[in-house]
Amino acid sequence: MKRSLFKVVWIVALVAISQVVAAQEYDLLIKNGHLIDAKNKVDQVMDVAVHEGKIAEVAAQIPAEKAEKVIDAKGLYVVPGLIDNHVHVFHGTNQDQYISNSFTSLPPDGFTFRYGVTTVVDAGSSGWRNFKTFREQTINNSKTRVLAYLNIVGPGMKGGAVEQNLGDMDPKLTAIVARQNSDVIVGIKLAHYSGFDWTPLDRTVEAGEQAKMPVMIDFGGSTPELSIETLLLEKLRPGDIYAHCFAHVRGRIPVVDENGKVRSCVMEAQEKGVLFEVGHGGGSFVYEQALPAMDQGFLPNLISTDLHTGSMNAGMKDMLNVMSKFLNMGMPLKDVIERSSWMPAVHINREELGHLSVGAHADIALLKLEEGDFGFTDVRGWKIHGDKKLECELTLMEGKVVWDLNGISMQEWETNR
Ligand SMILES: [Zn+2]
Repeated sequence: MKRSLFKVVWIVALVAISQVVAAQEYDLLIKNGHLIDAKNKVDQVMDVAVHEGKIAEVAAQIPAEKAEKVIDAKGLYVVPGLIDNHVHVFHGTNQDQYISNSFTSLPPDGFTFRYGVTTVVDAGSSGWRNFKTFREQTINNSKTRVLAYLNIVGPGMKGGAVEQNLGDMDPKLTAIVARQNSDVIVGIKLAHYSGFDWTPLDRTVEAGEQAKMPVMIDFGGSTPELSIETLLLEKLRPGDIYAHCFAHVRGRIPVVDENGKVRSCVMEAQEKGVLFEVGHGGGSFVYEQALPAMDQGFLPNLISTDLHTGSMNAGMKDMLNVMSKFLNMGMPLKDVIERSSWMPAVHINREELGHLSVGAHADIALLKLEEGDFGFTDVRGWKIHGDKKLECELTLMEGKVVWDLNGISMQEWETNR
């Protein structure tokens, strides 16, 4: 009698323990959302479970009981946390400096999670002389994952004469600092040089060679103009980036020629592996370039903002607005997402990011595709109309909710009464 009672108690205890364990299997479950994951070629409704900051399971149906918290994502797109491959976030308070450690750069957290962005890559705001300050000031103090291209100019984008100083473009020292900080530095940047001279470009590529990293080239300006064909077909290597691909600025040959045709060297370069990024910015995106290019099948490899105070309140606005522009110019949503997540991850050699495989960082954005009549602007005051616009409902960074516009991860007040 005694023995059988003991047995019953023991079985009840075991069942109770197993239920507790089952209930705690996952921290969080996102149910019924439409998953878009380019790396894994997923474009359908799927459930995603998160545990201890990582993706724990992706399946057509995951029982709600398996998770402590369930988020209903019905009607929303579930995508990898977005990667903005071109921002300026070396925010500081130095006077008389343009982007490097100054007012024109923005502190990242205020301009990322609310747009589904979990990783940004600073595009050369700092150089080898002040990268340490950038790291301590911004990278170490941001919840957003901040990576960087290191500027070939020692003090980075201080503006004016500093960025024209060939004497302070040192490939060796740039490569050393890049290697020493290869956990966060992903490439080398050239920007803003104006002069009929290939030296800055050659030094940047040399630093890239030494550091074994790609380069990002903002072709600057020159009179007469430097040959875009030489740049794309002779100077840049597969994996290098041509920034601001839909710009048309003085001193630089644009990708679309005066007859509205995409130059053959541009197509050829993209085929050989040179990447073209949007880098919209305050002056680098015009429909005169983007619309004919898109029509002729020339698509940017990477969608990015070139975020700074000079772009965010003008034609550019934010990452989702730039992505929505491409959506309304005819790029399918899954391609827009791919160019804002998995493609940049591959390019910057961070293949642990930009996808939702089991075991990956649980950086996830839940996006809503609004329908209506919207206007999308370029940097010259032109607009196009579109009927689709992306908005971010919720962002997870390593499994933690870092943005929740309408409280979809939170409890109803009514249940508290
Ligand atoms: Zn920039």
